[in-house]
Amino acid sequence: MNTHNGGPGTEGEALTDLFSRTISYLRLSLTDRCNLRCMYCVTEEEKNGCLGKLAHDELLTYEELLRVVRVAVEMGISKLRLTGGEPLVRRDIMSFIRRLADIGPLDDIRITTNGVLLERFAAGLVEAGVTKVNISLDSLRRERFADITGVDCFDRVWRGIETALAAGFSPVKINMVVMRGINDDELEDFAGLSRRMPLQVRFIEFMPIGTSSRWNRDTYMATDEIMARIGRLGELVPLQRGRADGPARVYRLAGDSAGSLGFISPISHHFCDRCNRLRLTSEGMLRSCLLHDEETDLRSVLRSGCTDQDIRETLLTAIRNKPRGHQMEERLRERGGDCHGRMSRIGG
Ligand code: SAM
Repeated sequence: MNTHNGGPGTEGEALTDLFSRTISYLRLSLTDRCNLRCMYCVTEEEKNGCLGKLAHDELLTYEELLRVVRVAVEMGISKLRLTGGEPLVRRDIMSFIRRLADIGPLDDIRITTNGVLLERFAAGLVEAGVTKVNISLDSLRRERFADITGVDCFDRVWRGIETALAAGFSPVKINMVVMRGINDDELEDFAGLSRRMPLQVRFIEFMPIGTSSRWNRDTYMATDEIMARIGRLGELVPLQRGRADGPARVYRLAGDSAGSLGFISPISHHFCDRCNRLRLTSEGMLRSCLLHDEETDLRSVLRSGCTDQDIRETLLTAIRNKPRGHQMEERLRERGGDCHGRMSRIGG
């Protein structure tokens, strides 16, 4: 169903914002809880042993999420990503995903996970209709992995990656957040993985997000430098952009390579002009830009006996508020500050 509400709306089949960007991709943070405590994600309270997590009734219920997705799909959303926190720690996740997959014509459901529970869930996810998985992996060294994530579970994650490949996920993408002085000495090892295994290994610029982020000018490394380093291993052959690549620029190392390399540059070559995303935080706030703290409260609407039209209008309001760009470089120059949202509740 198409809705016109002035300003942004649906044109033909497409949901467009004020800057003529088509909004087709909804990312759901299913929970702010996680079984890892990554150094760039964990808050000060969590570090001090106080959880600071949302209470169960603050999270959107599965019924609420399904309703929002159904309305969003009617409006033109065609791609969904489940993230968090760690989506696989939410109770009864599999039955939720099966119900999600029944929402026609939604045919593209993806998941971003730390991989800790993939060994158990990979086959079921594929069976339920999730075919694309992104797995976060910031080190290939067991001890360092434990330092970065706060948990000694590299072997489990690695088995999760192997299980995902065996289960038939295609593609399996590995996300490495590159942090100078923390893991940048592994760039070549990560790139080498793409020679040996059918993985898309993606190098993501470290973003200044979250109050406890370890981000600073020294830990940040821009894609140009990352590519120059990896380019020493061999020529980087650009691959034709596929619909599924999103903001990544995709290459493969010349010669025999089972996989590919992706470079994601939210800071140095931002992709705001073609951003097609809308996020729903774990407590039901619509966020139209990862790096802008403005949000639209959908949970209050959902819990006030709303109609589907009310949900539509709230989605349109969030889209109307989508900024032209995150302007992070200007903000950093002016204030040296970051964005204060928490990645776990927003969904990375
Ligand atoms: N638990 C899941 C996982 O680990 O993939 C999903 C949530 S996690 C917040 C999503 C992604 O955001 C991860 O790949 C993580 O590395 C990335 N991320 C978190 N903070 C980041 C930051 N400051 N800069 C860049 N990426 C970040």
